[in-house]
Amino acid sequence: AEAIRIHDVTKRYENGTVALSSIHLTIEEGEFVTLVGPSGCGKSTLLRIMAGLDQATSGQVHIQSHAAKGNEQASFVFQEANLMPWRTVLANVALPLEISGAPVAERKARALAALEKVGLTAYADSYPRQLSGGMKMRVSIARALVSEPKLLFMDEPFGALDEMTRHRLHEELLNIWMNSRLTIVFVTHSVFEAVYLSGRVVAMEARPGKIKEIIPIEESYP
Ligand code: ADP
Ligand code: ADP
Repeated sequence: AEAIRIHDVTKRYENGTVALSSIHLTIEEGEFVTLVGPSGCGKSTLLRIMAGLDQATSGQVHIQSHAAKGNEQASFVFQEANLMPWRTVLANVALPLEISGAPVAERKARALAALEKVGLTAYADSYPRQLSGGMKMRVSIARALVSEPKLLFMDEPFGALDEMTRHRLHEELLNIWMNSRLTIVFVTHSVFEAVYLSGRVVAMEARPGKIKEIIPIEESYP
């Protein structure tokens, strides 16, 4: 089934910059898709429009109806982990549930389950300042997963991490994706990262606004 369908979408910012020009793209449920291209080509704009964080100037954005029910059906991860320093790891992860009004007991159990997916249950009572950059990003991913979303939007999430940490997080993210029915849309400027992670690479032109080609990546898992 289709998770997201972008039809003839154009985005022109107030200052006249055309960041997207007649974009067509369909993403299937359960797909891991990357948007790749050099800085300024329109990746973030396209992601933000898919995620409903920004509006297209023209065209249509369809999100599969059951995937769109309630805000908690889509989650975001940005390059900055954006954790609240005065909250413990567990309380950071539980925040979306607090906002949606889940009962206290349920919050804790679900936040612990989300922390388990990123291997950080032992750090539930730690504070963000006690964690490495990679660990903070894992907490940020746990916070995104705690609401059990259908769609996960990630904008250069590992861009600030060193190579070893990034590699470990690639493996963890692929594990999370393979053990779920998550649809992931992941923005990166690294062709290597795009090809390594995703089943389909949407390559954008350097000049903003156009898709150059959509490249299916051969399945290489056993
Ligand atoms: P990428 O994520 O590939 O780096 P962006 O989507 O951020 O690209 O930007 C695409 C183009 O739109 C760039 O030329 C950028 O300068 C411009 N742009 C992005 N955000 C805004 C904005 N809020 N106002 C004006 N121009 C913007
Ligand atoms: P990551 O595991 O996110 O790549 P590191 O490479 O810095 O981060 O850390 C490797 C391991 O060392 C972590 O999984 C964790 O067990 C431990 N560790 C790292 N930083 C800290 C810290 N500040 N306090 C306690 N343990 C830490």
